[in-house]
Parts: sequence; C-alpha cells; structure tokens
Amino acid sequence: MSESQVLDVAIIGAGFAGIGAAIRLRQKGIGNFAIFERGERPGGTWRDNTYPGAACDIPSRLYSYSFAPNPDWSQTYSGSAEILGYIDSMVEEFGIGPRIRYGHTVTGVEYDEAGGLWTVAFTGRRRKVRARTVVLASGPLANASLPAIPGIETFEGHKIHSARWDHDYDFAGKRVAVVGTGASAVQIIPELVRQAGSVKVFQRTPGWVLPRVNRRTNTLTKRVYRQLPIAESLAREAWFWGHESVALGVVWNTPLTRVVESVSLLHLRSQVRDPWLRRQLTPDFRAGCKRLLMSSDYYPALQRDNCTLVTWPIASISPHGIRTAEGIEHRFDCIVFATGFDVSKAGTPIPVTGREGRVLADEWRGGAYAFKSVTVAGYPNLFLTFGPNSGPGHNSALVYMEAQIDYLTDAIGLILDRGLRSLEVRRERQDRYNVRLQKRLTATTWNSGCHSWYLTDEGFNATMYPGFGTQYTRQLAAVDLDDFVVTPGIRTPGEQRPVPAGTG
Ligand code: NAP
Repeated sequence: MSESQVLDVAIIGAGFAGIGAAIRLRQKGIGNFAIFERGERPGGTWRDNTYPGAACDIPSRLYSYSFAPNPDWSQTYSGSAEILGYIDSMVEEFGIGPRIRYGHTVTGVEYDEAGGLWTVAFTGRRRKVRARTVVLASGPLANASLPAIPGIETFEGHKIHSARWDHDYDFAGKRVAVVGTGASAVQIIPELVRQAGSVKVFQRTPGWVLPRVNRRTNTLTKRVYRQLPIAESLAREAWFWGHESVALGVVWNTPLTRVVESVSLLHLRSQVRDPWLRRQLTPDFRAGCKRLLMSSDYYPALQRDNCTLVTWPIASISPHGIRTAEGIEHRFDCIVFATGFDVSKAGTPIPVTGREGRVLADEWRGGAYAFKSVTVAGYPNLFLTFGPNSGPGHNSALVYMEAQIDYLTDAIGLILDRGLRSLEVRRERQDRYNVRLQKRLTATTWNSGCHSWYLTDEGFNATMYPGFGTQYTRQLAAVDLDDFVVTPGIRTPGEQRPVPAGTG
C-alpha cells in the first residue's frame, strides 16, 4: 500500500467485530479496505483471554455470526480455543487474511475536513494511512486492568491478569490468590483448584450465579446441521428467543426477576450445604444489575479442601501477599487478578479527532454517547462497533454486533456508491435518541443501585442498551439518510468521483 493510496475503509482491530465488518464489506463488493491490528494474530478478546477454563457463557450457536454458521461446534458453550479457531476459519474462508496488517498499533485517527479523509497514525511507523471511512472495532474489553490496590507494585511473588495468562507458570503446589469473582473468575477458579496447592478467593461482591448445562454435540447433530442449514438456523433462532425472553427478568426489575433470583438461590442451596458460606455467597442486589454468572462448577470448587473464600475487604498488597481489613496478611506465591478491563465508558480507546479539531474523548468526558451506538455527530464517516449503549445483558453480543456491522457497511456502501464526501449524523437526531435512551435506562435493573463496570463513577450508563435484542437490531435494520447530513462529492488523489444526483 503506497503512501498516496487512499483506502475506502480502514478497520481498526481484527477481533470479532473487525473481521465481521471485513466479511460484510467483501460481500457488498467493497474491496479497498485494510484491517489494522496491534497483535500478531486475529481474535481480539478471544486471542487474549486464554486463562484455564476460558469459555463463552452464551451458546456457541448464538455466539457466532449468522452469515458464517458453524455446524461443527463441539458443545453448547465452547471454550476460547474453539472460538478462536472459528475466527481463524472465517479469516481463511472469506479471504480476509491478506487484508490484515499485524503489528500496527493505531495511535489516533484524525479527520481532515478539507480533503474529506481520515488519517490513521501508528506507533513506531512514519507512514500514515488515509481512508475515506473508518470502522473503530477495537473492542471494549481490550485493555486488561489491574486494580488500584495500595502496594500492588510491591508484591514479590508472581502476578497474573486473567486476560494476560502466563502459561509458563507452574501452579503445582503453589499458594494462589484470586482477586475478583466476576465472569472470568468463576471460570478460572474451578480449574485453578485442580492445579494449585491452595487457592484463596477474595470476593468483594457475590454475584447471581445460574447453572450452566453444557452438552457435547454428537456427530449426528453436526451432520444434520451440515446437510440441513435450516436446522441450524432454527436452533439459533430457538436460542435467540430463549435468551430474549430472559430480558423481561434481567433488563427490568419485574416479577420475572424474582424467578431468576429464585433459580439462582436454588442453585446455591443445592450446591452449598454450609449456611454461613451460603450467606457469604448471597447477593444483595437485584439479579441482572451486574452481569449474571453462569457456572455449575464454581460453588463446588469453592468448597474443595484446598480452597477458601475470603470476604474481608482487601486493605493492601504487601511484598508477600494480601492484607485484609482486619489486619491479617495472607501469604501467596502468586496473585491472579480477575478484576476486569479498563472499559472506555468516558473516553475513547485511541484519540479520535473529528471536524474542526474536536476530540471525542473530551466530548465523552461525562460519559460516552452516539447515535444508535454506531455514529457520532462531528465525526463524519466514522463508525463504531460495540459503541456506547450497545451491550445486551441477556442475549448474544454477536447478534448486536452483526446488526451494527450490517448498518455501518450499508452506510459505507452508500458513501462509496453515491460518491458522497461524507455522512454525518445530525446532532439533533443524536440528542433526541440519547434523551430517550437515558430516560429508558433509568427504569432498568442496571441503574438500580449496584456498582458495576456498566456505569461511570457518576452513575452514567454508557454501555447497555435498555431493551430487547429485537428492538436494538430493528433500529439498525436500514440507514435512514434523513438522520444524516449528507455532503455530496469527494476528490481523492488522481480521481474525481461523480457528484450524485440525489442524496436523500
Ligand atoms: P468483571 O466482571 O468486571 O469482574 C471483576 C471482578 O473483580 C469483580 O468481582 C470485582 O468486584 C472484582 N474487583 C475489581 N476490582 C477489585 C478490587 N480493587 N478489590 C477486590 N475486587 C475487585 O471482570 P471479568 O470477570 O473479567 O468480566 C468482564 C466482562 O468480560 C464481563 O462482564 C463479560 O462481559 C466479559 N466476559 C464474558 C465471559 C463470557 O463467558 N461471555 C467470560 C468472561 C468475561 P465487584 O463486583 O465488587 O466490583
């Protein structure tokens, strides 16, 4: 790619979203694109999260793209290696590999209004790339975050973050601490108790845990799915509607929330005999307010002889271990931090400079917002995947992602086919959308008073979509040009694109 070449689309990130966007662009006949990826292979969060037990708690049939069905999923809930294999197979099957530029860490994107082009800059490279449109697909769970616990840097043992697993560390016979009891921790702990000498789990807030029934897919079922794709689509639909119905108890606080809580409490009661431990593991917030946890082996793991649950708050980390609030120092060889990610709820993963020099992180200082989670006023021809308020609490993120990808690739198709200089969402449409959205969020469980990564410190919800998956996907079913300021005509070096006759 030469310095003067202008890409039609620059995609940032080769995770699920970036690869999906590339496939859909290809299928729509758009070929002049490149994906810029900081790592050395595709996969995003599934490349990075290789901790023992890493799996998706959404059934694979639904945690995949409808345009890339996989009849060969080995089980209901596949592990991270199989999911990564699925991403690799999409890259291969759709010929995306040659379009990925690995080792390209994007340091910022900037819009040049005069030229109507975005400039993408990289670390350690003098060359910049220009593109007519940008898809920011860097993902919300890309940056592992170590907690700000006093003394964390003084620990002399081994530190591991769940999203940056150290596969060379031998846990055999070691005294291990796990900090955190979220979605990652409940998958790690059952594996760690089998490997380590002893495990102490530091819990700050107990979560609602539902049983996860995982079944292997037999050869006959795989053959049926291979030969009868409609059967697989129906299975996917069934999973979708099953999850969709759960929204009624998870997104909003309704009588169904009590049903979800009762199932979880029954699960706790059936797996934990000790009333004191049960009490320690009983949540004190509404189910759904924080992410529901899905595990049938977490509670049994906590009760193994070599495992202890610690509920005293962590006061500090010392050179030899963790000091809890009552003054005890727990000594460890290794501390595993399953403490989540640095989610850009009130910032952007990379600096984004739009029209008239505006900086997106400044505009989002109080909390991120966008139009239908995909476009932002002031940033023409820039499209986000997994942008503000696009998270489901009850369904597959990939169903939501697919809707975003279809919407943004349609918009890019319009820009290119009609030779538009830019598409920029109208600020008043964006504002109206967000006023309604935030009003609807106030009635959801997420805003019901618990502390979670869904909210900013001030309690602003910039992550979740307050509704059903069907509502989310329907709003993205078609690009309505009335939502946008459409600027016709663009000049790219050596080329005068036709000015379109009509832009409405
Ligand atoms: P998380 O849900 O944010 O959980 C972090 C855990 O660390 C929480 O238990 C939190 O306690 C605890 N923690 C954080 N800082 C702490 C501190 N200073 N002291 C003590 N405890 C602290 O992170 P995660 O488990 O990595 O999951 C993040 C997201 O990744 C999930 O919500 C989900 O979207 C995704 N994920 C998905 C799957 C899947 O199967 N689909 C699996 C793993 C992850 P508090 O609860 O008190 O804050």
